[in-house]
Amino acid sequence: MLIEVPDSHPRAQSLRIREKLIDGFDKGLVAKAGLIAHGRGECFDYLIGEKTQIFAENATETACVMLLLAQHPVLSLNGNVASLCPDEIIELGKVAEAPLEINLFYRTKEREDALLKHMQEHGAQKVLGLGNDETVQIEELQSKRRIVSKRGIFIADVVFVPLEDGDRTEALVASGKKVITVDLNPLSRTAQKAQITIVDNIVRTVPLMTQMIKEMKNYPQKKLREILTNFDNKKNLQAALHFILQRLKELS
Ligand code: ATP
Repeated sequence: MLIEVPDSHPRAQSLRIREKLIDGFDKGLVAKAGLIAHGRGECFDYLIGEKTQIFAENATETACVMLLLAQHPVLSLNGNVASLCPDEIIELGKVAEAPLEINLFYRTKEREDALLKHMQEHGAQKVLGLGNDETVQIEELQSKRRIVSKRGIFIADVVFVPLEDGDRTEALVASGKKVITVDLNPLSRTAQKAQITIVDNIVRTVPLMTQMIKEMKNYPQKKLREILTNFDNKKNLQAALHFILQRLKELS
């Protein structure tokens, strides 16, 4: 059960996000390690001022273009994402015309069932990567995370994999996919390996993506391609680190 956090609390928003994750844990959606990963994310969110900064906006815009130009875009989600923004990711899937695929680091039948039930309760029509969905294995990975849906990630050219770990990101890139990630830590292996890294909190990114894609649907192709060509992920990650450095200097 979610605990009510009063608006007057100075860290109300952060605590509400945390409550959603605890609730997800209680429902069997989130693994113990997912709680720890969230704590790592919270730390970096503090450092970027818990706001969508310009480097995140730029990466988000480019990610939207990449999804719009993709042949087979797929949105991958894990227990943390499903707990933090289920309605928002379903909406993004509709607007981007991209199927949702569940990808679990700690894959158990119970967690799969809980996630499917949770996503269906939030209105998801179809979720790939679960139960009887036809799956195949990507060679580059050892663990159960090598399992992907034949109708989803296997045939995808662009994969949105927020809050992902480094091994899987590397494997997806090695198997020829274009990878977009959301990761509050600009230094993580995932952040460094992905083609587009959005250094922001997933709860802010996903609604912003939906809004941007709606606007971009009217953009001419030329403009979309220009946005894509002008983006440099390495430089953008440097901008995120530079922002953190400046902020710490100012605060110290
Ligand atoms: P890597 O293997 O890529 O080096 P890692 O070992 O930190 O990274 P995980 O423990 O799987 O990978 O953590 C996932 C990442 O997600 C972390 O870098 C964390 O900062 C980030 N993260 C956690 N919560 C959020 C959130 N709400 N929004 C965005 N990023 C988040």
